[in-house]
Amino acid sequence: MLKIPVQRRRLLGAGAALAATALAGCAGMSSGPSIGRVVVVGGGYGGATAARYLKLWGGNVDVTLVERNADFVSCPISNLVLGGYQRMADITRGYDALKAVGVKVLRGEVTAIDVPGRKLRLAGGGELSYDRLVLSPGIDFMPEQIGGLPSALDSERVFHAWKAGPQTVALRQRIEAMPDGGVFAMFIPKSPYRCPPGPYERACVVASYLKTAKPRSKVLVLDANPEIQSKKGLFEKSFKELYSANLEYRPNAELKELTPTLAKLDFEDVKADVLNVIPPQRAGDLARSAGLITVNNRWVGVNWLTMEATAAPGIHVLGDATFSAPGMPKSGHMANQHAKVSAAAIIQLLKGEAVNATPVVMNTCYSFVSGSEAMHVASVHQYDAADKTFKTVPGSGGVSAAASQMEGRYALSWAQNIWADSLAL
Ligand SMILES: Cc1cc2nc3c(=O)[nH]c(=O)nc-3n(C[C@H](O)[C@H](O)[C@H](O)COP(=O)(O)OP(=O)(O)OC[C@H]3O[C@@H](n4cnc5c(N)ncnc54)[C@H](O)[C@@H]3O)c2cc1C
Repeated sequence: MLKIPVQRRRLLGAGAALAATALAGCAGMSSGPSIGRVVVVGGGYGGATAARYLKLWGGNVDVTLVERNADFVSCPISNLVLGGYQRMADITRGYDALKAVGVKVLRGEVTAIDVPGRKLRLAGGGELSYDRLVLSPGIDFMPEQIGGLPSALDSERVFHAWKAGPQTVALRQRIEAMPDGGVFAMFIPKSPYRCPPGPYERACVVASYLKTAKPRSKVLVLDANPEIQSKKGLFEKSFKELYSANLEYRPNAELKELTPTLAKLDFEDVKADVLNVIPPQRAGDLARSAGLITVNNRWVGVNWLTMEATAAPGIHVLGDATFSAPGMPKSGHMANQHAKVSAAAIIQLLKGEAVNATPVVMNTCYSFVSGSEAMHVASVHQYDAADKTFKTVPGSGGVSAAASQMEGRYALSWAQNIWADSLAL
């Protein structure tokens, strides 16, 4: 079992530092009357960070975080759980530290938003009023796009494990129970989806486990896209050099239908012992029911200076639910950065001040190719006032030369640090 090092690395700072500079005058302010009530829905990467930074930078903002789950369970590093290299406890953290910094954490399900009335309804009947609302609901699936998928998911014949939690545990159990000589088939939806390199990381990590635990078994990667969507050359190298004997990758292989015995593609049928279907995705249900989806019937268009939904100024939408700016990935790191832009803007708006007109955000995304070796891709994104969107800064970031054990240790440190940053640990 790999141990996650606690070493602090300064990878998360860019967005924070820039926004904090703009707010230098209010750091540490905690006395006096509240400058406003902010409710944050969703205690994942975006929402938890927003709640924390509203307290850190605003001091006297009244912040309530509503989250349906008891704990934060991280999708990043969850592929290592599927490979047996980490445990669920390693990727699970509580919300107590956020409470300790003054965030009111409410466990509950938000069922509806009354946009003009500035209040939201909770399952069980309660209501919460707000001056500004932050929504980071993540993704929900569109299983109806694939014949037979809704019932296959309901009956637990297939698993997505694309939201970490019980699905991760169930998929790991299936992989462990698979006979030696069995086939693990993974289906990747067309982009855009949450975490572009995530499926290829999963393929490698599962293949790594099978290579030693069930050496006659095989990973079959069926990708609806024409090619690998992130870190292409590096993943191709890993597929070839590490897993040529037990991993097969097929592009342009879109899943059309699931029957009780077969996965049907356009030109062939696939039989497998374990089926991992990552369904097509859209912004979370709450964004849809609140009428915030404005792009391609799937994503929330936002004003990137404040992260407010174009359909409802006053509601700030973060993370995977947004229609991404060009070159901007749907990642936990990026949701964390969206949160900092929104927290800074909310405090300034509540105080009647101008928001930062030149925000900069960054992303680093590590992928494991075995239980211990990883590689990264990084990028910096600057707001472009003419086109009103973030654009990748030319020459910024880049990718690893090769996967390595050293980057494996960095990847685990990155996880520790972003959990600490988001959850005030
Ligand atoms: C296998 C995998 C590996 C990944 N690896 C990486 C990685 O290495 N690096 C990286 O940066 N990103 C990675 N990601 C992507 C990352 O997990 C997401 O981009 C990130 O979680 C997005 O943050 P979010 O706040 O938008 O959504 P989430 O983190 O999913 O948070 C949404 C939260 O909202 C809550 N919620 C939703 N609706 C309601 C409601 N109505 N009421 C109450 N609560 C609600 C949910 O319970 C959830 O806690 C990975 C993803 C996967 C699947």
